[in-house]
Amino acid sequence: LKREGFSSIPNERWEDVGGLDFIRESFYRDIVTRIKYPEVYEKFGADMEVGFLLYGPPGCGKTLIAKAVANEAGANFIHIKGPELLKKYVGESELAVRTLFSRARTCSPCILFFDEVDSLTTKHGEEGGWVVERVLKQLLIELSGAEQRQGVFVIGATNRPEVMDDAVLRPGRFGKHLYVPLPSPYERGLILKALARNKPVDPSVDLSAIGRMEACENLSGADLAALMNEVVTTAALEEITASTESTPNATSHTIRAAHFELALDKI
Ligand code: ATP
Repeated sequence: LKREGFSSIPNERWEDVGGLDFIRESFYRDIVTRIKYPEVYEKFGADMEVGFLLYGPPGCGKTLIAKAVANEAGANFIHIKGPELLKKYVGESELAVRTLFSRARTCSPCILFFDEVDSLTTKHGEEGGWVVERVLKQLLIELSGAEQRQGVFVIGATNRPEVMDDAVLRPGRFGKHLYVPLPSPYERGLILKALARNKPVDPSVDLSAIGRMEACENLSGADLAALMNEVVTTAALEEITASTESTPNATSHTIRAAHFELALDKI
């Protein structure tokens, strides 16, 4: 059972992420190699960004790729939801932020992931009020102390980068900004392949072609995951029905194109 704010190495892997090659390369360079080969960076005296902002529409893999980076680097992962941090610790917000970073340092190498980070960094005067201001101030202090943050990387995620305080987005804070877009038709195929990994998909099913279908237009990765769930359920129910009715020549135990057609009709 994983509690919020609890650290562990995630199970999500690179292979679970469809597309997003640009972000993957960027994180490999800026996070994975730095965690795996700290001595090399030390030798070169590298002073690189340790704070990243993933922004873009919901359900396109921000959380997923952050977890995959941690897995790839063998780093602990602490998942914090911005609004919950505010709600939980009203009156002790600065302490909560300090505790969080100190916990991250103790379990270094560690990736500290702030979901809905915009809720912590709303521009002064807008929504929120004093709790936000105080959390923001403490967050900036923690983010600025890069030299004490050996092995701790911070990734923020937001659907609304435009409401964020510019001070938070400067170099040395959430300084590197990466856009996570809705997948292209080609990338939808890659996502379906990633989601189909370890599933008994019949070799006749052309996942790239399904990804390019008009019915999949504008679907996010999360939508495609929902589609895949529907497909799996349809195939499983078919097999259960066939086995309980002990139909002769019961359908094969694989996921076939017809299951995708049925699922797409439902969506
Ligand atoms: P939000 O902004 O709503 O927090 P998010 O961008 O963080 O969304 P995720 O939580 O990473 O999105 O994605 C939700 C689920 O959708 C994932 O657990 C995964 O099943 C699926 N998914 C999304 N994007 C991808 C992708 N690129 N490859 C494979 N699966 C994906």
